Amino acid sequence: MKKITIAIDGFSSCGKSTMAKALAKRIGYIYIDSGAMYRAVCLYAINHGWIDEDSIEEEALKGHLEDIKISFTIDPESGKQLTCLNGEVVEDKIRSMEVSSKVSRISALPYVRQAITDQLQAMGKEKGIVMDGRDIGTTVFPDAELKVFLTASAEIRAQRRYDEMKAKGEEGIDYDEILRNVKERDHLDMTREVSPLRQAPDAVVLDNSHLTYEEQDAWLLDQYMQAASE
Ligand code: C5P
Repeated sequence: MKKITIAIDGFSSCGKSTMAKALAKRIGYIYIDSGAMYRAVCLYAINHGWIDEDSIEEEALKGHLEDIKISFTIDPESGKQLTCLNGEVVEDKIRSMEVSSKVSRISALPYVRQAITDQLQAMGKEKGIVMDGRDIGTTVFPDAELKVFLTASAEIRAQRRYDEMKAKGEEGIDYDEILRNVKERDHLDMTREVSPLRQAPDAVVLDNSHLTYEEQDAWLLDQYMQAASE
């Protein structure tokens, strides 16, 4: 089997990361969550008061991009990958509703995309990675040997997100607000000028609305086997 690059793109809350992590673990590849990087930049902007409901202090953000150091570490207890922002573990903070509702405006900024894309390309240059996001197969690794485009209905995605937040014991969560956020992010991600969310022409599409984890994992493993043996 040759070492390949696997790009998994698709809509928000489709289960891309669950699927990508499971495959990476199974085949001994490194998993990279590109969305976590955009979320970390968004959290940095929030912490500095540079983003509110309708404006972003772009000069400040642009001028400080180099100060934003994002890395990943493994939680020794759970074995889970955690996102760090300038050395601090921010895994829970970057998944908050506040970050979710603002991140698509941050990820639409061309200079933010360029900075993150450069880092992602450096992380994946040795291949042997599974990377998930919105533009991995189209912009970050257009030559990836396996490109998957994952989709599911907005209602099912919102329900999964709701269940996930509930399971974490989060208070005051509202299904309708989550559904609005899912749809709004889809719209912003698809209509932005730079690297919009789009299916690569050579991507294989999977609608996992009615699939179990086992079914989708088996499908992906099969796709990997074919791509790595070609
Ligand atoms: O995947 P996740 O939902 O965590 O991504 C958060 C946000 O980051 C997305 O809504 C999108 O705006 C942005 N993103 C992106 N390009 C990627 C990954 C994520 O624009 N490759």
